[in-house]
This record gives sequence, C-alpha cells and structure tokens, in this order.
Amino acid sequence: MSTVIQDLELVNVTKRYGTTVAVDRVSHHFRPSSYTCLLGPSGCGKSSTLRMIAGHESISDGSILLAHRDISHLPPAKRGTAMMFQSYALFPHPTVAENIAFPLKMRGVAKGQIADKVEAVMAQVRLKGFGDRKPKQLSGGQQQRVALARAMVFEPNLILLDEPLGALDANLREEMKIELKQLHQRIGATVLFVTHDQEEALTLSDRIAVFNEGKIVQMGAPDALYDSPTDPFVADFIGEANQLDGQVVNLNGDQILINVNGTEIIGQLRDGFEKPETTASYTLRYERIAIGESAASRENAFEAEVEEFLYSGGTTKILFRLNPETTIAARVPQHLLTRKVVAGECIKIGWNASDMLMIASN
Ligand code: ADP
Repeated sequence: MSTVIQDLELVNVTKRYGTTVAVDRVSHHFRPSSYTCLLGPSGCGKSSTLRMIAGHESISDGSILLAHRDISHLPPAKRGTAMMFQSYALFPHPTVAENIAFPLKMRGVAKGQIADKVEAVMAQVRLKGFGDRKPKQLSGGQQQRVALARAMVFEPNLILLDEPLGALDANLREEMKIELKQLHQRIGATVLFVTHDQEEALTLSDRIAVFNEGKIVQMGAPDALYDSPTDPFVADFIGEANQLDGQVVNLNGDQILINVNGTEIIGQLRDGFEKPETTASYTLRYERIAIGESAASRENAFEAEVEEFLYSGGTTKILFRLNPETTIAARVPQHLLTRKVVAGECIKIGWNASDMLMIASN
C-alpha cells in the first residue's frame, strides 16, 4: 500500500458555534509523515479542529491546506483524508473484509482491485486470515484494527484519529499504543490524533500540540514540552508541577531571590525571559523535590509539615505545607521512602534553583 505523504497547513482556522468560539485562529504547519497529537482538556476545541480538517464540520474562518491545496470547503470524500472515530462503529452483519472494502466500493474502485487492497491492508494491521469473520467474532483490539484498516484502505493523504484508544480497556490500550506507533513507522503517513490523556500523547506522538481554550498554547516534541514548558498551563497539564509566584527580593547575575508568601526561594533567570522587576513565576516538578537527608544540600531547603500523602503503587505523592499560604507537592519513588510518613510531622524538603523553570516575569 502506498500512502501518499502530504503536509497539512492550518491558517487561522476558527470555529464558532453561535457565540462560542470553540477554535480560535489556530495556525500550524504539520510536517509530512509527522505523528502529531492534539492534547488538551475536554472542551478545548481538539475534536472541532479534527472534524474541520476531515470536513465533518464547517470552518467559520481561516483555511486548511493539504499538499498546498485549499481543502477548506471540499466535502469529506474529496479531501483524501481518513478519519477514525472513538466509537469505530463497524457494520455488524458484513464480514471483516466487507467492512474494510466499504470505502473502496463507495469510491467506485474496480472489484478486482478491491480484494488485493483489502488483503494488503489486513496484513498491515495484522488481521491476515480474519477476513471472513463477523466483527462480533473479534476481540476489542481486533475490531479497532478493522476500523483502522477501513480508514487506511483508500490510501489517504492524512489519517485523523479521534480518541482512537478511548473505547478500549487498559491492557488493550497499551497493546494498541505500540501497534499504532509501529504502524505509523511502517506506512509513514501524516497522522493527527486527539486525546485528553497526556500519557498517550507522550508515548505515541513525535509532536504534541497542547490546546487550551481553542488555541494551541505550545507545540513541540514530548520531551521538550515536558522539560521546557513555556506556559503554566502546559507545565501543569503535562506531568505534575507546582507553581510558585513570588515578589522579587534581589537579583544577582542570573540568580533571583523571590519571596513566596513569606518564604524566600532562589530561582534562575531563564533564556528568553526579561529580568523581572517586581514578580517572577516558576514551575517546579513534583519529582524534582528531594526529601529527608538528601534535601539538606539543595540551594532551597526547608522544614515543611506533611499535610497529606497519597500512596499510588511505585510512588507516593506528599503534600507539604511550606508556609500558611503555600503548599508544595512532591512525588517520591517508593524505594526512597525509607520509613512511613505521618501527617503532621515536619520533614526537610529541598530543590536547586535550576530545578525551577521560570514561566513569567514582570
Ligand atoms: P474537545 O474535543 O477538546 O473536547 P470540542 O471541539 O468537542 O472540544 O468542543 C469545543 C467547544 O465547542 C466546547 O465548548 C463544546 O461545548 C463546543 N461545541 C462542540 N461541538 C458543538 C456543537 N455541535 N454545537 C455547539 N457547541 C459545540
């Protein structure tokens, strides 16, 4: 199967439903063969964006270009894009092969070619030999693969997946994650998929577009977004982060001393940010915080009261009260917790200035 690899460009794409602006002037150039995830909380405009690209939703403003051709107002079948929905809705009575053949029949492909194409795509999604079964004779994961095969069979320019793993249970989801990634590597198509699950986005995609309130707030590779969020929303949405907002007390070269509700904390100036005059905000990842003995040698080290702790398998999340108005959350691997933590006790917590990432300065 030879999927034609194309690039996709969104220019000020906007969707309004009455007075609601669901997608607000989104612009981005998606590189050919990229595997991009649109990630964000429910209601932030991800699905509307995907549906506009597929042509299942009209565009209020802006334009969508596929291979430099304006497809903004073409009907879905004329765009050369394939969309797979969360509820992948296979036809129950036709066989697996007939289900997969459906888009080809719709497009008037000659009968002789259909069988070959169906056979080829079934091999790609590892369904060889299942063609004569009915969908209900397959497992959930296999049904998902049929839906994927049906989306891929007409060699789309662009594959659009809306919460592709949403209907699967946890084990199958893990399995399908690996399959989707391998499939992308094999066929090299440009893929866009929507999810609200950050872990899915981090493990599957090579680019993530983080959406909030109808806009892309940051776009980048998973590790870049995790290590270098430029927006407080991104810092908190991808991974877990504390936000520390402080008044500037002192500037010394690249070091900045801030006062966070009465506690003085050392941070650093970040490349690309102005030297702050009055306030500076930082994110601090939960896992960057050391506790106990090892905390003492950090640039920022405090005695803090344990307010709450939540055990979750391999790690424990501990909420510390730094001062009456500030709590700090830490996530500590189980093997580093040498003894049981008790609510109300005071423990040393610490982190270095470089563990905090500046996200705003004024
Ligand atoms: P997401 O996929 O991120 O959950 P959506 O794109 O589905 O977000 O929705 C974005 C916003 O648009 C939400 O406020 C939602 O309520 C609204 N919306 C979505 N579809 C419609 C519709 N058909 N009519 C009116 N409002 C809609």
